[in-house]
Amino acid sequence: MSAHDWSSSDAPREPRTTETALAMPSLGRLLRMVFRALRLRCPECGGGSVLKSWRPGRPWGDVHTRCAVCNFRFERSDDRYFAGAMLVNLLTAELLFAVSFVTAIILLWPDVPWDAMTYGGAAAMVLLPVLWYPVARVLWLALDLVFRPAQPEEFR
Ligand SMILES: [Zn+2]
Repeated sequence: MSAHDWSSSDAPREPRTTETALAMPSLGRLLRMVFRALRLRCPECGGGSVLKSWRPGRPWGDVHTRCAVCNFRFERSDDRYFAGAMLVNLLTAELLFAVSFVTAIILLWPDVPWDAMTYGGAAAMVLLPVLWYPVARVLWLALDLVFRPAQPEEFR
C-alpha cells in the first residue's frame, strides 16, 4: 500500500460546488473584461449589447438572453444569476460616490458649500445605486467570466 492510498476507491466523491472550473485571471483579461462591461458590451467578445434598452414596463437593467454577436448566454445559471450584481452595485456605486465627494471637497477647498454637499450627498447616495444598477449587472457578469471562463456549451 502506498502512502497516498488513504481513501478507498468506492467512497462517494465530493459534490461539485461550482458548475465551471475556476481560473486564475491575468490582469490583462481582467482589464479587458471590465472595460467591455463599462461600455455595456458582451464581456466575452466585446461585440453584442448586454442590456435591453429601457422602455416603460420593462425592468430596469433587463438583460438580453444571448449575445447577438457570439451567442454567449448572459444568464449563466437558472436561479437568480444576477443577484450577485446587488453586491457589485453597492460596492461600486458607493465607491464612485466616495471618490466624487472627496474630489469635490478638494477642488472646492476652503469654500466648500457644506449644506449643498450634505443634501446633495444624501441624494446621490440613494440615486447612484439605482442609476448604476444596469452597469453593475454587466460588471458582475464580467467579473464572473474573469474567474469562471465561458464553456463551449454556453454558446449553444
Ligand atoms: Zn458576445
